[in-house]
Formats: sequence, C-alpha cells, structure tokens
Amino acid sequence: MGGSAASVEAVLFDWGGTLSVYADVDLLEMWHAAALVLAPHDPSPVAQRLLAAELHAWETHVAAGDQSFTTEELLRSVSAETGLDVLATAQSAYLDAWAKTVEHDPAAFRVLTALKQRGIATGLLSNTHWPRAVHEHWLEKDGLLDLLDVRLYTSDMGHMKPHAEAFRALLDATGVDDASRAVFVGDRPRDDIAGAKAVGMRAVLMTGRPVPPSDVEPDAVLTDLGGLLDVIDGWCR
Ligand SMILES: [Mg+2]
Repeated sequence: MGGSAASVEAVLFDWGGTLSVYADVDLLEMWHAAALVLAPHDPSPVAQRLLAAELHAWETHVAAGDQSFTTEELLRSVSAETGLDVLATAQSAYLDAWAKTVEHDPAAFRVLTALKQRGIATGLLSNTHWPRAVHEHWLEKDGLLDLLDVRLYTSDMGHMKPHAEAFRALLDATGVDDASRAVFVGDRPRDDIAGAKAVGMRAVLMTGRPVPPSDVEPDAVLTDLGGLLDVIDGWCR
C-alpha cells in the first residue's frame, strides 16, 4: 500500500541491543556486587546462586507464557530470610554495577529527534526485571527520556514480549488504534519481531546482535540504527 505521511503514526523500540549497545558483560560479576552486600565475608557462593536464580527465572517465566518478574523478586528468592533494607542495598549495588556498562547507540538521539520532527509518536517496550526508575535515569542521562513519548518496562507489567498483552499495552499507551500504522524496532526475532507482527505491527529487525536466532520474517532489516529514518521515510511515501 502506498499511503500518506500518516501511514506510520508511531515508531516503537526495544531497549537492549536496539536503543542501547550490547555490552560484553559478565553476568556473574554484576550479581557479585549484590552478593558483597548480602554476604560480605563469603560473596562468591551467593553471587553464583543469584545468577542461577536469574537464569532460572528467565527460563521458567518464558515457559509459563512470558510472565514478567522483577530484580527484587530474584533477590528475595535467594535471600528469603534477609531484611528488606539489605535487599535494597544489594539491589542498588547490582544495578550500579550494570550502570557502568550502559551505553546508548550514538544514533539514538538523532533518530528519535528526527522521528518527532516528522510528527511520529515514539515509544519503548523493554523486557526487563530492573525497576522503571533505573531505566529512566539511564535514558535521562543521555537525553533520550523526553524523546520517548511512551515507556513501558515489563517489571511493571504482567507479561513480557512476545506476549500480545505487552504489545497491546504499548499500542494503547501510544494511542495507535490501527496496529499496521505502528512500527516496532528490535533485535530479538522471537520477542520483538514475531511478537510485534502477531498483533499486526510492522517490524524492523536489528541484526548482528548476540541473540538467539528464530525463523521470522521482518519487514525490514538493519545493522545500524542510523538507517532507520530511510526505512520509515520509505513507508511514509
Ligand atoms: Mg533487545
């Protein structure tokens, strides 16, 4: 279909590996920061258990129909008898360890600014167990927060991508009635592309990221976020 400038009303993004750059992170090292708070004299076994709990949680929550979970639930599951104050401190230490690795794509600011200049709504839907406040702080630091009209984090929601409820919540929050007028941009074939297409959105796959492959058919493929404007402009002609 040809379409007018209104044929794309919203461009909506995944976060990790899409708006942000993949960091080569040692997951155990991130949890070690929390373990140092929970068990200062013998942190290593606690860090191992926290990492195992995280990997187990991703696996079981996906298997249970892409249900979401939070960092706090993970910490609670490993240190059931520890007080909440210590848990909060452990969570801060863990998230601070991650903060040092967060880097947004250098093209993100320019691309989001250009989309808004075209009158296109923007949004974010991230599969995450980290709290909203942490994500928003990182986005704010790089000037991206106000460029995203809608920001949804599955740690606040019942389901993760690719569950249709997560994508419908995004469309509702963005105020897009016709899903075919919304574009989702992400790097995970199953979570981002299959999920967005299942609710009728168009989908752009960012390739070259270390994610599990899946047999899906995106509407466009990019290696570099900077190329997104050409794709969107092509669909608006
Ligand atoms: Mg991602």
